[in-house]
Amino acid sequence: MRLNSHPSGRHFLQIPGPTNVPDRILRAMDYPTIDHRGPEFNALARKVLRSLRQVFQTRQPVIVYPASGTGAWEAALVNTLSAGDLVLMWETGHFASLWKRMADRLGLKSEFLGGDWRKPVDPDAIEQRLRADTQHAIKAVCIVHNETSTGVTSDVGAVRRAIDAARHPALLLVDTISSLGSIDYRHDAWGVDVTVAGSQKGLMLPPGLSFNAVSEKAVSSCKASTLPKSFWSWEEMLSTNANGWFPYTPATNLLYGLSEACDMLLEEGLDAVFARHARHAEATRLAVKAWDLEILCGDPAAYSGSLTAIVMPEGHDADAFRKVALENFNLSLGQGLSKVAGKVFRIGHLGDFNDLMLMGTLSGVEMALGLAKVPHKAGGVQAAVTYLRDTAPGARA
Ligand SMILES: *Cc1c(COP(=O)(O)O)cnc(C)c1O
Repeated sequence: MRLNSHPSGRHFLQIPGPTNVPDRILRAMDYPTIDHRGPEFNALARKVLRSLRQVFQTRQPVIVYPASGTGAWEAALVNTLSAGDLVLMWETGHFASLWKRMADRLGLKSEFLGGDWRKPVDPDAIEQRLRADTQHAIKAVCIVHNETSTGVTSDVGAVRRAIDAARHPALLLVDTISSLGSIDYRHDAWGVDVTVAGSQKGLMLPPGLSFNAVSEKAVSSCKASTLPKSFWSWEEMLSTNANGWFPYTPATNLLYGLSEACDMLLEEGLDAVFARHARHAEATRLAVKAWDLEILCGDPAAYSGSLTAIVMPEGHDADAFRKVALENFNLSLGQGLSKVAGKVFRIGHLGDFNDLMLMGTLSGVEMALGLAKVPHKAGGVQAAVTYLRDTAPGARA
């Protein structure tokens, strides 16, 4: 239950996922569930599995699970690895840490590099570590493309080049749960072996679907991998998907929505989608700078296009501030997770989003900063307005 049981107007769901589900997708899902072994479903599945490849920028299969992103993390690990295998991971933040904990729980050995929650993955450090691994004990390198707890985006192509430069056979596994459909991501061109994604962020769907895009190398490593797998097994998925079927009941209505989501992204054009996100991210950062608050990401080259994490001034609690924003303006902002709990709040600017939704969000933040008596300068909203005006399509003259 919301605090105000009859809030008029729309709730502002500006957490970095789940994101706002557009009406077009809500309507696309509002149909009777059909027989998942019938011809109508078969046509839908073939279409969705084809469109998905375009969104992942791949010619390889994309597997769809009726699960949250965490399930697709597990699928990526259990299909490619064997008990005791060593995986090299990079600690960008909370989500990288959860993926590592999962690897440990599954009986893998994991090694964490990095640990600075304000910096992206360092490809040179990965290359050095792989060069030192002359016995090829490391079986996979696992990274989070866009670390949602910190708003830091890493260069996946550079990590691929680092693995190649070290002439190391490790697989490259990448979590794109908060970047796919928001920040440029290329499964094939960047030589990724398994891409993990979820439905409820850039894909604008409700939670409940997750994905593994796979490479040929990943599929062949699946044959040798001995970690137990049944529900998550790629083998039956790939063989049945090839003919437009699923090995168990799919999330039919979410697939209606997924089909619509892919259409929306491809109609807008992926480049336009990424540019839209980058522009809203820049406008947000201009507001944060004008407020004289600090952006958590410490490397401007790694600023995230899908969310911005903002450091609370010393002595102020981020969660108390978020509560003020929710209670007064019906605006949900992202909380700080684990190590940065209470210390940061996050503005999600991804998914189905436009200039005026961003301005509503930033206005809510600025008003809540005032009400919560968080020390800041005025003018953040104005800085974003000016930037959006000057970069609007009609401003070219
Ligand atoms: C949201 C998120 C997850 C967790 O996904 P669930 O759908 O909650 O299981 C993992 N990694 C990243 C980068 C995320 O943004």
